Amino acid sequence: RTRTSADLIRAEEPVLAHNYHPLPVVVARAEGTWVEDVEGRRYLDMLAGYSALNFGHRHPALVEAAHAQLDRLTLTSRAFHNDRLAEFAERLAQLTGQDMVLPMNTGAEAVESGIKVARKWAYDVKGVPADRATIVVAADNFHGRTTTIVSFSTDETARAGFGPFTPGFRVVPYNDLAALEAAVDETTAAVLIEPIQGEAGVVIPDEGYLTGVRELTHREGCLFIADEIQSGLGRTGRTLAVEHEGVVPDVLLLGKALGGGIVPVSAVVGRRDVLGVLRPGEHGSTFGGNPLAAAVGTAVVELLETGEFQRRAAELGAVLRDGLADLVGKGVVGFRSRGLWAGVDIDPALGTGREISQGLLGEGVLAKDTHGSTIRLAPPLTITEAELVSALGALARVLGRG
Ligand code: PLP
Repeated sequence: RTRTSADLIRAEEPVLAHNYHPLPVVVARAEGTWVEDVEGRRYLDMLAGYSALNFGHRHPALVEAAHAQLDRLTLTSRAFHNDRLAEFAERLAQLTGQDMVLPMNTGAEAVESGIKVARKWAYDVKGVPADRATIVVAADNFHGRTTTIVSFSTDETARAGFGPFTPGFRVVPYNDLAALEAAVDETTAAVLIEPIQGEAGVVIPDEGYLTGVRELTHREGCLFIADEIQSGLGRTGRTLAVEHEGVVPDVLLLGKALGGGIVPVSAVVGRRDVLGVLRPGEHGSTFGGNPLAAAVGTAVVELLETGEFQRRAAELGAVLRDGLADLVGKGVVGFRSRGLWAGVDIDPALGTGREISQGLLGEGVLAKDTHGSTIRLAPPLTITEAELVSALGALARVLGRG
């Protein structure tokens, strides 16, 4: 017999590492903003794969690009050229206003690659003495899970038990230009920050912070690396979150939605004088820049070139903001939002973020806590106004019961 959701959840326990604690829903199918579980129950997706599904599940243009490429060529390795990579790089550079692209697969790999590029740039171009380069990062950051990246995490759960750690990082409070200025010196290769801190709870810095980081890094002669892996590619109502302040970083880190929710695609995108420091043999990835990834990535860029998704995120973002504002004092103690992205602080007396997410699941809405009593709302940018209003209604009902 076919296994039920309960069977499958039970079956995972002995054979899957317990590094996640998923909500008890087993998804079997999805289309657009909707997913369906093994028993055929339907849920509105208000998480969108942590923003990897900005275009919804199985967007027809992306599925078509993937199918067409599957039938022609899927992998060459970069030992050879493939006929899809040039266009992907050209169009991604054009979309983001940068010169060069280093294609990788996952977000963490893009971050690791950005760190390597910044260090190489510090030695080759800036003239920092060997092995002395530092990178300044922000407290409460989330950049991924590799050993080097957790070395500069301030989340003890992410770090404890995984040392020894990679040196060369300085942590300063987020949204604090004075602290940043004090930490930057002649050894500084780069300042690496999220323009909006996603996992921290969609923490939006004060107006002027990103501009200040840009001015400071210019003045001090170090790179500004913006991790737009979660904030980028339409989520906030612009292609990039840094555009809200009209800021152009030296290096952008992209991932998640770049693969259209179909394949893992990430990239370091930056100026030629920065990414140009890499020489053959110094960095690579077997799958990075593979033709399937390039074909899907190109189709993603094509969707973003229309501006339609950015526009939807901006317009529906106002609906989300107004809807959440109505819930303040009715179970919501505060929230931060930009575009179709919100961190919602629930009154802890009503339950943990996880308990609220469980309640939403019962209402047919998928969402996830970030930590504590904060839940993140980040639906596909294809969501309709009626769907968004129904998700807010479900949240109101769950909070009303609390
Ligand atoms: N950087 C940011 C800002 C992220 O939000 C994430 C994932 O949540 C990552 C990096 C890591 O991406 P991945 O999980 O693909 O390694």
